[in-house]
Amino acid sequence: MAMQIDASTCTACGACEFECPTASISMKGDIYIIKASSCTECDGDPAKCVAVCPVDDCITQV
Ligand code: SF4
Ligand code: SF4
Repeated sequence: MAMQIDASTCTACGACEFECPTASISMKGDIYIIKASSCTECDGDPAKCVAVCPVDDCITQV
């Protein structure tokens, strides 16, 4: 399980990148992506990327 960024609503603000404890969020080209293989969904804690993202429903579980 992992989180996924909706590229159509992400504003590329970058806020989520440095909040991720597993460094799973990075910019690829001009969009941010979450590396599914290392995203732990914050180990059951509220997802830090979701908490900091200013866009509703931009980051969702896949
Ligand atoms: S859910 Fe947690 S581990 Fe996964 S991308 Fe977001 S901040 Fe990183
Ligand atoms: S915090 Fe949200 S809007 Fe900003 S780069 Fe991350 S996913 Fe995109």
